[in-house]
Amino acid sequence: MSRTGRGTEHESCTFCGKSRFKVENLISGPPGVNICNECVDVCATILTEDKRKQTSAKESPAEIPLTRDSVPSPARIKAFLDEYVIGQETTKRVLSVAVHNHYKRLLHQTATKGKPSEVELEKSNILLIGPTGSGKTLMARTLARFLDVPFAIGDATTLTEAGYVGEDVENLILKLLQSADFDLERAQRGIIFVDEIDKIGRTTQNVSITRDVSGEGVQQALLKILEGTVANVPPQGGRKHPEQQYIQVDTSGILFICGGTFVGLEDIIGRRVGKSLIGFDSKAQVGGSTPATDSTETQKKKELLHQTEVEDLIQFGMIPEFLGRLPIRSVLDPLTENELRRVLTEPKNALLRQYRKFFELENGSIEFTDEAVLELAKQALAKKTGVRALRSIIEELLLDTMFELPDQKESKDFVITDAMVRRERPIRAKKKVAKRPAATRKTSA
Ligand code: ADP
Repeated sequence: MSRTGRGTEHESCTFCGKSRFKVENLISGPPGVNICNECVDVCATILTEDKRKQTSAKESPAEIPLTRDSVPSPARIKAFLDEYVIGQETTKRVLSVAVHNHYKRLLHQTATKGKPSEVELEKSNILLIGPTGSGKTLMARTLARFLDVPFAIGDATTLTEAGYVGEDVENLILKLLQSADFDLERAQRGIIFVDEIDKIGRTTQNVSITRDVSGEGVQQALLKILEGTVANVPPQGGRKHPEQQYIQVDTSGILFICGGTFVGLEDIIGRRVGKSLIGFDSKAQVGGSTPATDSTETQKKKELLHQTEVEDLIQFGMIPEFLGRLPIRSVLDPLTENELRRVLTEPKNALLRQYRKFFELENGSIEFTDEAVLELAKQALAKKTGVRALRSIIEELLLDTMFELPDQKESKDFVITDAMVRRERPIRAKKKVAKRPAATRKTSA
């Protein structure tokens, strides 16, 4: 077998018939037999899929066994979410019920396949509205992990309606297929999280110079796959083209969780309910009242967002048909100082536990005093990017320490205090002593 050189014009792929000038590579076998790179890719996909089917038949990994009792109860789902997600109690409950019902519906469909059913259980995708770093992606990912179903994340801003520069909506499903190692059955029960869904509102300006397309077109394109259709997914991604072979994926069992920050939605709601937000009460004229403090404004915004109605989202720019496919909605709140403090120490993979592990790997240790944890939470709250701020604050704080850690000859043990977090004192390794000083206060992380 060899790669063809410049070749002659009449050389073409024996499988798809494309001329060598229409493909990137043409590999030749026995005289007159060639295969192009695109057909090689398709063959590879088919082989992977077959292999996967064979192994799954052997191991029979029905992650959610299809019996009536096999779908975990909402309470069990919520308990699992509690281990990873701090706060957001209402959303965790809403999601637990929605996910339980979704998989119950799938079981019901499997059980009644072919038989006429008097009640049609409709698919219920989910819309999460909440500020950045409040745990939208985390919740979707944690659910998928608990249920052991494939999970994919897509960004709505990269999607375009067919025919424009950008990604087709089918690429979302391709990501899910990839996460399921091309096991179609498993992918068809997976979860797709579509982030930045608010950025495809009708009124949104184009976010990309190459994206000459309205958000409304993308919403239209998403409608079918959200509702449930057999989507033709190009196995190599990219644009669809007529000669390509597609993998047909039924999206009716795929749970879509869409998330967005919906900045400005509170103003729309405020206008509807007759309360203005931006630092003035409803009766005050602009400039005629004292601006609200930061925390009262946050509180007011929170209260307004919890009153979100479909009409507000329509006014924001989402089309009614699209919202119809996302019947379950929940609003997430920005994390409070106390919740940010808990995020640092409580979840199974809490940030401080991760740092502790990291220092252990270097034969060292790191502890944070309770006051240091509180100071970190305070600083993160001020940055207004939710939990995301915590990580960057700690990374910055510990940069030099982690830089020097592997080469430290003496002690590699550290206790971080609030003064160190405030940069009032430098971070130094503990002096080696026979016993630990009893006065050192540590967190439970
Ligand atoms: P969003 O999707 O709302 O912007 P993410 O879910 O991506 O936010 O969260 C960003 C980071 O913060 C992740 O590392 C996540 O683990 C953490 N995080 C966010 N919210 C919470 C929360 N409520 N509890 C625990 N960790 C959180």
